[in-house]
Amino acid sequence: MKNPVSHSSAALVLFSGGQDSATCLAWALDRFDRVETIGFAYGQIHAVEMDARLRVRDAMGAIRPGWTERLGGDHVVDLSGYGAVAESALTADREIEIGESGLPTTFVPGRNLVFLTVASALAWRRGMPVLVGGMCETDYSGYPDCRRETIDAQERALTLGLDTPITIETPLTHLSKAQTWALASALGGDALIHLIREDTHTCYRGDRSHRHDWGYGCGNCPACDLRAKGWQEWQAGRA
Ligand code: ZN
Repeated sequence: MKNPVSHSSAALVLFSGGQDSATCLAWALDRFDRVETIGFAYGQIHAVEMDARLRVRDAMGAIRPGWTERLGGDHVVDLSGYGAVAESALTADREIEIGESGLPTTFVPGRNLVFLTVASALAWRRGMPVLVGGMCETDYSGYPDCRRETIDAQERALTLGLDTPITIETPLTHLSKAQTWALASALGGDALIHLIREDTHTCYRGDRSHRHDWGYGCGNCPACDLRAKGWQEWQAGRA
């Protein structure tokens, strides 16, 4: 069992501009005095994600009193070399399907391990002992680098390798998508739900032309399916 997170500390949020990382950013702003964000350009075919990051960040401060003051800088790191090595349906124009390995073609091998390692280097430089990521075990996909066991091992590796305690918080680990909507509502009320619906981006196909109750997206890729299903479950639970 970890120690309770200190309220007088700083956290670096892995922030992609999607629903999960936007919820994590709100979660961090609720708990830490100083919060910075890091994003990665790794050859995503959808620049729409990078646009979403900036819109969501700009609007996040106004959700709760004090959040503007807590929200510090944003850092974008170019990992296009990694993207080229780890080519997947997210970084190349390939069909989204289940590949020979049994994992979807959207799986980017080692992605979270690379992101957390790069984030830890920045966190170390900037004196931020806590990383926050939206990894979730309950996702349909079973990405092996989203498992908390993987994250625990990396937390240990980074703590040893940097010779300083690094904590990796993953507040969504055990939440369903419906519970993630509920968490956002608890953290930021209707204003945060509105922001997530209008400005975050999750769709694998980068579609911003179709508007649904749960936000924008193609409506039939695995990411849209998951987001829509979670929204409907949450709405049904509130009724
Ligand atoms: Zn989609």
